[in-house]
Amino acid sequence: MGIPADLLDSHDDGKVMGFVLDQLTDPDAFLAKVQELYAEPSAESLDLLHFSDGRTFERYSRPQRVAEAVVGRVWSFRDITARMQAQDQARTAISDLARQADELKLLAFQDHLTGLANRSLFRDRLDQALNAGDRSRIHVLLLDLDDFKEVNDVLGHQAGDEMLIEAGRRLGRCVGPADTVARLGGDEFVILLTSTLDPDAVAARVVGALNAPFALYGREIHPSISLGLTSADTRLHATDLLRRADIAMYAAKAAGKNCYVRFHPDMMAALLARTDLEAGLRTAVERGEITVHYQPVVNAPEATVTQIEALVRWQRPDRIISPSEFIPAAESTGLINAIGQEVLTQACTQLRSWLTGDQNRRVAVNVSAVQLRAPGYARTVLDTLAALGIRGDQLILEVTESVFLDPVQHISAQLGLLRGQGIKVALDDFGTGYSSLGRLQDLPVDILKIDQSFVSVIITGEEELPILDSMTAMAHNLGLKITAEGVETTEQARHLVRLGCDSLQGYFFTRPVPPQELAAAEKHATQRIKELRSGDVPETAAKPSR
Ligand code: C2E
Ligand code: CA
Ligand code: CA
Repeated sequence: MGIPADLLDSHDDGKVMGFVLDQLTDPDAFLAKVQELYAEPSAESLDLLHFSDGRTFERYSRPQRVAEAVVGRVWSFRDITARMQAQDQARTAISDLARQADELKLLAFQDHLTGLANRSLFRDRLDQALNAGDRSRIHVLLLDLDDFKEVNDVLGHQAGDEMLIEAGRRLGRCVGPADTVARLGGDEFVILLTSTLDPDAVAARVVGALNAPFALYGREIHPSISLGLTSADTRLHATDLLRRADIAMYAAKAAGKNCYVRFHPDMMAALLARTDLEAGLRTAVERGEITVHYQPVVNAPEATVTQIEALVRWQRPDRIISPSEFIPAAESTGLINAIGQEVLTQACTQLRSWLTGDQNRRVAVNVSAVQLRAPGYARTVLDTLAALGIRGDQLILEVTESVFLDPVQHISAQLGLLRGQGIKVALDDFGTGYSSLGRLQDLPVDILKIDQSFVSVIITGEEELPILDSMTAMAHNLGLKITAEGVETTEQARHLVRLGCDSLQGYFFTRPVPPQELAAAEKHATQRIKELRSGDVPETAAKPSR
């Protein structure tokens, strides 16, 4: 205690006590304890003394006994400053660790960019909500920003980040305190509603809130989102809910974006059908399920069939599937290349004797842009013709206008190569695409196929149809041949012949038929055009089918 020797030697207890008390942080407590113990001679005690200079002493006191009698009191003091400091340090270290662990835990459940909940926390909350019992108020909203990639690409990642942060802020304002807004990654967000009675209203609010413009690097951005909404029922798990919300979100995109769509079980069926279709399509060629039907096209001035269009069919074990159902999937998977080749081979093989019987006869085959983009397409076509002994000028390739929107120079080059060998190119579905009449002269085409939608407007054959008139006039001025598609009535056929169409095709003459019925169909079509030309055909009584 640092009591000077001379002070001790003075045996003045009051002064010694005063010296000690001066150093203590709580002298009163010290004195009180001393008095308490002297008042109770048999008591024992252990307590701590804190010195103003930071030292800590342990004070132990117990009675001094001789035989059974208490004759005095023993005091012992121990400097435990070092031990206390070590303990203090340990305590601080532990509480620091605990705080860091809390922060880490928070980070592990937080999206670092937006500060929203992240995927794990969302899953946690969703599981909790589902386990809590009443599921009638649990709804999941999955959404993503519609044109986020563009903002990122055009304005940069910094701007993209700002947009995500702003989107997160807006989402947060659309929901209640009990709900969870999380960012799943990229531009994908998810909301868990647990208390609302009207989730559709919340979904609509979210779409509206995101749609308000905001300034980003000097530009005004109008963000929009596609949102899928689904509600929990008694048996769904968290993964089911997220999957359903995802499917609904894709439906919202398909519906034109900037909207919300509620999940419906039919969407699941459509998805399953789609994957089933794709899986089946993969093996369709090797299983011999790709077949071709043929529709004769009549030559109006000659009143004969000089052309036959090949139309693909997919013969599945249970039914025949029409091209409009599977061509899009075939194109997006690239399977169209093999299917297209199969159609060309079958058509040339099956029509070979018909084609070689008269050099003015032609087969028309539909080609999609995907095929034309494949390197070596022109080569394979020419090889196929050569192998079967069919002349180039007996093949027509039908393409749609979208082919010419493709910036790939390669497509024009392939068509150029093919036309160089006498192959004709027909522009299918003319009038439904983007091409203006004025652009026609720049396109590498020989034949114009007027789309059925222009033919179906002919009802009596007496009406004024200026578009049809200018289409045919323009095409002829450019030296193109004209085929009218989807001719269903006498009135249409007669009007189109009068207009000067070179060829006609449609149910009025014959439907597309399998190869074994082709001879009969050709005969029927020839009959029809002969009757029409000789004026020997009655007006169709029934209205056209559309
Ligand atoms: P498209 O090339 O415009 O073929 C004409 C479509 O109209 C055919 O449908 C045909 O059956 C139908 N049609 C013919 N006459 C009439 C008529 O008088 N009235 C009505 N309402 N329809 C008529 P299909 O066979 O279902 O083919 C649909 C489309 O699928 C074709 O339209 C073509 O774009 C595509 N397609 C067909 N075969 C192939 C192919 O081998 N390859 C590619 N890439 N596409 C094909
Ligand atoms: Ca066609
Ligand atoms: Ca067409």
